[in-house]
Amino acid sequence: MKQLNKTILAIPASVTIALNAKANDLIAKGEKVLKFGIGEPDFNTPDNVKEAGKKAIDANRTKYTAESGVPELKDAISKKLKRENGLDYSPKQVIASCGAKHSLYNAFAVLLSPGDEVIIPNPAWFTFAEQVKMFSGKPVFVDNDENYKIVADNIAEAITEKTKAILVNSPSNPSGSIIEKNELEKIAELAVEKDIYVISDECYEHFIYDGKKHYSIASFGDEIKKLTLTINAVSKTYAMTGWRIGYMAAEESIVKAASNLQSQSASHPTSISQYAAVEALNGNQESVKKMCAEFDKRRQAAYEGFRKIEGIVCPKPEGAFYVFPKVSGLYNSKIRNSVDFCSYMLDSAKVALVPGLPFGRDDCIRFSYASSMENIKEGLERIEKAVGGI
Ligand code: PLP
Repeated sequence: MKQLNKTILAIPASVTIALNAKANDLIAKGEKVLKFGIGEPDFNTPDNVKEAGKKAIDANRTKYTAESGVPELKDAISKKLKRENGLDYSPKQVIASCGAKHSLYNAFAVLLSPGDEVIIPNPAWFTFAEQVKMFSGKPVFVDNDENYKIVADNIAEAITEKTKAILVNSPSNPSGSIIEKNELEKIAELAVEKDIYVISDECYEHFIYDGKKHYSIASFGDEIKKLTLTINAVSKTYAMTGWRIGYMAAEESIVKAASNLQSQSASHPTSISQYAAVEALNGNQESVKKMCAEFDKRRQAAYEGFRKIEGIVCPKPEGAFYVFPKVSGLYNSKIRNSVDFCSYMLDSAKVALVPGLPFGRDDCIRFSYASSMENIKEGLERIEKAVGGI
């Protein structure tokens, strides 16, 4: 057999798959495993959104749509960007895709030529770098500060002739950190000065705490707006991960190229989901507030829980639904890294966590608090006890 595509073969299997399989085996054997690996809200899609999906089916809105999305959805996205982010994007500057992951894929496809560099502040969601590599681009990681906050000066130092784009993700997966406005402004200045694109993943924008505010980098002026590809989705905000609706807003030429690509690949996201997303964006926003308030309580519990465990250092997350404690103070000859740590926790505490390794930080683990308060409290007690046995 002839060889398969080398670039695709280089995409690694997820390191969490083995751990997840082990967790599922234990559950099948009747063990009470508490899972904190999940990257999605544990809430249901709001009723008004579900109804809109059902209505779309009954109205036979089940046929092909325009490749960039139905006009109602593009209009709803355009209005949302204006209302919530202060951004003026016409529906022509918007394309809906099958989740933010697909929007990011389109973004990298449109921007990158082989050898182009993309600066990614570390720690980061592993998909960013993998997608860059899919288009023969080169991820260039730069360190964030000790609280995982993006530092514009570190980005400035990493810029080369080959830098095509800077990736910003605030609030961040995995750390829950948010970028400070002045740092974001500095990045905008840098990008404009050096003519570099910015891909801004704002999927967690609504999950932000302590009275902090989310800023869209494209809102800082016309010049930076021209260079920015704003990525977002209804997935996290409306607990709609399975519906697969994400979107990108950018200059018309970028959106046109992405639409052409999409028309020859996925065609468009599911018609039914598109109509549900229209309701999510245009309808009552109470569910978002409720979810955020609940996440905030759990965030405090998760943060306090980790903070009091000796040997663990836990920066306070300001957004998303993750904490990213540093556990390397507990490493020894048997527990040498984050994968060993998670494996030990699964075996001894029956708690499923995600190693920091794929996020670029082998000294950390990711704990998602998209789980009930009861589970969070019990999980932390189990972790504390298991740490005592290290
Ligand atoms: N962007 C970030 C930062 C994420 O963490 C995730 C999912 O975990 C996504 C995008 C993917 O979102 P979607 O489900 O809309 O593809």
